[in-house]
Amino acid sequence: MSVRVRFAPSPTGALHIGGVRTALYNYLFAKKNNGTFILRIEDTDRTRFVEGAEAYIEKSLAWAGIIPDEGPSVGGDFGPYRQSERRDIYSKYAQQLVAEGKAYYAFDTSEELDAMRDRLTEAGVVNTQYNAITRMQMNNALTLSKEEVQVKIESGEPYVVRIKMPRNEDIRFKDEVRGWVVVNSATLDDKVLLKSDGMPTYHLANIVDDHLMKITHVIRGEEWLPSAPLHITLYEYLGWEAPQMAHLPLLLKPDGNGKLSKRAADKLGFPIFPLNWNDPQSGEQSKGFKENGYLPEAFVNFLALLGWNPGGEQEIFSGEELIDLFSLEKINKAGAKFDIEKAKWFNQQYLKQISNDEIAAKLVELFPDLKGNDLLPEIAHSLKERVTFIEEMKVAGQFYFERPTVYNEKMVKKKWNELAVEKLQGFAKELSKQESVKADEAKTIFTEYLAQDETPMGRVMPALRLSLTGEGGGPDLMHIIQILGPQEVADRIALAVERLN
Ligand code: GLU
Repeated sequence: MSVRVRFAPSPTGALHIGGVRTALYNYLFAKKNNGTFILRIEDTDRTRFVEGAEAYIEKSLAWAGIIPDEGPSVGGDFGPYRQSERRDIYSKYAQQLVAEGKAYYAFDTSEELDAMRDRLTEAGVVNTQYNAITRMQMNNALTLSKEEVQVKIESGEPYVVRIKMPRNEDIRFKDEVRGWVVVNSATLDDKVLLKSDGMPTYHLANIVDDHLMKITHVIRGEEWLPSAPLHITLYEYLGWEAPQMAHLPLLLKPDGNGKLSKRAADKLGFPIFPLNWNDPQSGEQSKGFKENGYLPEAFVNFLALLGWNPGGEQEIFSGEELIDLFSLEKINKAGAKFDIEKAKWFNQQYLKQISNDEIAAKLVELFPDLKGNDLLPEIAHSLKERVTFIEEMKVAGQFYFERPTVYNEKMVKKKWNELAVEKLQGFAKELSKQESVKADEAKTIFTEYLAQDETPMGRVMPALRLSLTGEGGGPDLMHIIQILGPQEVADRIALAVERLN
């Protein structure tokens, strides 16, 4: 049997980073097992539907390189992959369960449901669910006669279909992450399967589709664990084999105290969505990881290790390595603390690895005014170990784009003196004999020139840096000379002498 997994988001808003991780684990598991990764849009709850959310989900996955084999945009033999386009499929299964006595019609109005809860609360009952006990006091096919039910349905009275949960039975299943899970059905309620408008609820649509789409493994967030016993019961009632289950650990706030929420992320000042998101309802604008400068490969590597670890010390994994190493057994049970510093670290590591040309292209994308600057790849080279995000290069490398206008005062005080000035001027003269120099050539000229009268380098270097960059520290100085070129170096030295003396 070939592995088929699905990521089944509801388009109720932006995709949270936890959702991206769920999609990623499904994707890695599918690829690892030569299986199929499916994107299924669970949009049966029209009251929570958000315009643009589906497109956002697809764009986010594409940015992270998580490409579905089957889904709303790519199609596939088991589609359509949008539940709203499958609405006619589900009710027949609800009716089948009704016919077999495993589900029943219920006519209770919301006032009646409220009244039931109030009554129970008043009587001191803690569990006020619609369940094996309370169902017998309600307005449903189990308490009404066949004829009464018939009349109600024929007269068009609204009804829902509820599952008839066993009264006191252990429901057990093996979760690939948490091991055996056992829940007594007495703690579970008779969930609605089919709503009064004929639409299925999440539970019904979800398991029907998992069955019809031949899903072999359900890999999803821990928040769905409480629904799993109901789903297992539904599979059993319908006579279907349940897929294997794997519930992923929660993403926690950096301090480990509670779930990582949008609010927590906002407060701590880091993104929680993969891409920019403009909430059409609240009008709120949120910046994504992408727009914050994260490279997709770094983001994916970071995310992969948030709740999973292949063991060992290695932290940087290529996409192929992740696929190769991925297994459900190595997913942690404990919640994963979200550490934005770690995300930055990953970005830095990946930034070092990408080519100078690629960085140059991204710089132009970010700063169109840099277009046409042939030095960008070299500039990128000189800065890429010094920044976390490409965007920071514009400031970190400011002196490449403009002559310094201010000079680090402390450095001037400490290192700018007559000897330094004399040597700088002499060096500029030596250097000007060349059209251009490589960093190592510049270094030879510099050291040989100073060696003539045994001036220690440390007496001149800081002043040289000051005059070229205005700063006290920065990238390799000889590389800066290579990039600026002899003429510009000479000009900047002359300028500094004029201004600082
Ligand atoms: N539609 C559910 C969600 O929004 C899917 C849960 C599941 O994977 O079963 O996450």
